[in-house]
Amino acid sequence: MSRPEPKPWIAQIHAYVPGKSKSASGKPLVKLSANENPLGSSPAALAALAEGHVAADYPDPDAQALREAIAEVHGLDPALVVCGTGSGELLHCAVQALAGPEDEVVMSRYSFSLYPLLAQKVGATPVFAAPEGYGASVDNLLAAVTARTRVVLLDNPNNPVGTFLPPAEVARLHAGLPPHVLLVVDEAYGEYIDPAHQSAAFALAKAHENVLVSRTFSKAYGLASERVGWVTGPAHLIDLVNRLRGAFNVSVSGQKAAIAALGDQTFVAEARDHNTRERARLAEAIAALGNHGISASPSEANFLLVHFEGEVTATAALEALAEAGYAVRHLPSQGLPNALRITIGTTPATTNVIATLRQLCGETA
Ligand SMILES: *Cc1c(COP(=O)(O)O)cnc(C)c1O
Repeated sequence: MSRPEPKPWIAQIHAYVPGKSKSASGKPLVKLSANENPLGSSPAALAALAEGHVAADYPDPDAQALREAIAEVHGLDPALVVCGTGSGELLHCAVQALAGPEDEVVMSRYSFSLYPLLAQKVGATPVFAAPEGYGASVDNLLAAVTARTRVVLLDNPNNPVGTFLPPAEVARLHAGLPPHVLLVVDEAYGEYIDPAHQSAAFALAKAHENVLVSRTFSKAYGLASERVGWVTGPAHLIDLVNRLRGAFNVSVSGQKAAIAALGDQTFVAEARDHNTRERARLAEAIAALGNHGISASPSEANFLLVHFEGEVTATAALEALAEAGYAVRHLPSQGLPNALRITIGTTPATTNVIATLRQLCGETA
């Protein structure tokens, strides 16, 4: 060896591919490609950020005040909450704690593109369970579990499809897993679902020794740039994540903005209402293009996965939307060459996306 060579499992992985914000010609586009909040951030969070802070000082290493604020909003024990540099850091810690070479990490065929990377980073093998429609299937996830399985990753709602497994289905998945297999319920879009279902995964994590639930400030809270996420679960799993996370992993501004954002639930409710309304409008317009082979998967998240199975291709729609000024997510590398994931944007953005798709289909009126 004439130079440092990576471990074989590291040599195989690629860097995470983020959503685009520019056209092929370099023109800046409105991003409907990364599921960011089109309403921006809570004014309270922006005010907290504007206060400024002593940049020379380290943040609170344990994010104590933030964990207490999270626990209060969700009725959790702050000792059972760990914060991270986005929820992505904590998902990585959970997989790292339990899986390594020879082990398997199970996920639905179409799920968060970070998941296979999390398995590969620790030398484990990602195992894809066949979907039902495009969404997760409890039966197929359970059938994919082998003696080598250490972790099951479930994004609920799912990204990139948007489908949601109701609490009874998640409970059935958990009940079918051996007790030594960790179930991670990733609720990055948890604030967008029916409020009646929003605490079910927390209750599951409270009642069992093998469940972690993750949340993020990157989506409905509109703080993706601040990189703040958290997990909750039983003490022994929280302890593992806590040992593996980075020291001082949440910045001073991230902690302050997240605390202020938690105090502004009105903003979160507005984000949910806007999303529900505009998603329904986009879904209805897409359903009306069914005779052109265009359809959307049912979604409880802040995006729609739109399928192009007629004369208008996903690539043509991608280009037309870029021409109109919008970047959306084309996911051929995830096995979805005929689909685009379109984030629910502002009201004018939704109107323009609808007009562009209708025009592409020759439905100009
Ligand atoms: C966006 C997203 C996250 C959030 O990642 P952060 O690191 O918290 O920004 C997590 N899981 C899924 C499925 C997502 O789509």
